[in-house]
Amino acid sequence: MTFPCTSCGACCSSIDGIDFLAEYNQEGKCTKLRDNQCSIYDSRPLLCRIDDAYEALFSNYMTKEDFYRENAKACNELQMRMGIDLSYRVCIPSQI
Ligand code: SF4
Repeated sequence: MTFPCTSCGACCSSIDGIDFLAEYNQEGKCTKLRDNQCSIYDSRPLLCRIDDAYEALFSNYMTKEDFYRENAKACNELQMRMGIDLSYRVCIPSQI
């Protein structure tokens, strides 16, 4: 399984204060976001690649399931704050 991103674009539209994305930040929104899609998807930064970031940076500290759940919680909270339709909510199955 890979992280079930629903491509809502919320994270890409909320990058204020994220130092590693500072070069992409324009008024809080990623300059690489076009029509709600990442225009550098195949070469996007590591921390924008949830599964790769887990393996490279977080796998020594938490299970993949916990990592997915924390990310999903952040996605869904952002979506709620931005008024994004419920159909985009991220759900993590009980067994991954
Ligand atoms: S906020 Fe979550 S679901 Fe939406 S695009 Fe980002 S990672 Fe995907």
